[in-house]
Amino acid sequence: MKAISRWLLLGLMFLGSFASGSKAAEDKSPAADGNDAVDTRYNFGGFREPGNWYKGNLHLHSTISDGNLAPLATVEVYRRSGYHFTALTDHIGGFWDEEKKKYKPLVYPLEQMNTPDFLVLPAIEYDTNRNGEVLHFVVVGPGYDLRLEEGQDLSKAMKKWWDNGAFAFMAHPHWSLDGTDTLEAISFLPAVEVFNYATSIEEGIRGNSQMYWDRLLMKNRAVLGVATDDSHRPGQDSGGGWVMVKANALTAENIITALRKGQFYFSSGPSLENVYSDREGGLHVQCSPVKFIRALSTVGRVAQAAAPQGETLKKAVLKWDWSKSSFVRIECVDEIGRTAWSQGVLRIDEKPR
Ligand SMILES: [Zn+2]
Ligand SMILES: [Zn+2]
Repeated sequence: MKAISRWLLLGLMFLGSFASGSKAAEDKSPAADGNDAVDTRYNFGGFREPGNWYKGNLHLHSTISDGNLAPLATVEVYRRSGYHFTALTDHIGGFWDEEKKKYKPLVYPLEQMNTPDFLVLPAIEYDTNRNGEVLHFVVVGPGYDLRLEEGQDLSKAMKKWWDNGAFAFMAHPHWSLDGTDTLEAISFLPAVEVFNYATSIEEGIRGNSQMYWDRLLMKNRAVLGVATDDSHRPGQDSGGGWVMVKANALTAENIITALRKGQFYFSSGPSLENVYSDREGGLHVQCSPVKFIRALSTVGRVAQAAAPQGETLKKAVLKWDWSKSSFVRIECVDEIGRTAWSQGVLRIDEKPR
């Protein structure tokens, strides 16, 4: 996290890749075309990086734990829906061998699931109880099988996964009714699940953990945001929360590296085509047609463009006063509340080069 510590960008961009099948969306961002007005210190989610956009789900359950489809069938739902990748994140309890009283190896039949145009990332969801609160963590990629031990320091656990090369995030704190102070006490917390689709369709607003994320950003914590499905019934509670990752190629190494660097935005509907800051503080946003384009920071620090009644917006330039804001993030919201989130960025006080 040090690499992104001062300027964290949490942004989400999402391209309408449902229509693009398994082919990665082409990058057409103007900022990638040499716009020298761009303040390159601020990274809202991979918009200036070279590469392609890949759509993925980072949270999903199969019959290994409490999902209702076998791993292969689960993955097929995502492949057929135009995703480029998914993680399989069964609960650790699904790997418990009751007869032998120990955990089975945490492995998935990846050789049956991976193809050149669709990637499955091995992952796990750990849970623990602390001071009466339930805490869930999703760990994707290298080190995912390093188990969370009873009573283990949560920051050290996060650091261990991260240092092993994984992308790790705290899952659905609002649904778990975790305290904001509980998250804030985890000194090493690379990412938090801001939107969890399955719980949003079952329990409404509890699927949205935006407040936890905003509070961490407000405290100058460089924490990335993600949206996921947390699907247990693919086809019914899938396709409503995803990440759009900018990477050079559809390989586990490229995708996980890009996630760790914050080269992604996340969405429950709209797509982000470009988000950048110019050197005068103007925030430039291009997205799919939405009702609202807004920049958000601490209390009362909001800049918004709203479409007139019966119309939509596809771009905006929002004037931003950095002297009164320690962080900012962008969101584009459509007529039914579906949102695309950029990563958040923390203010950098040096003058732009
Ligand atoms: Zn969970
Ligand atoms: Zn889950």
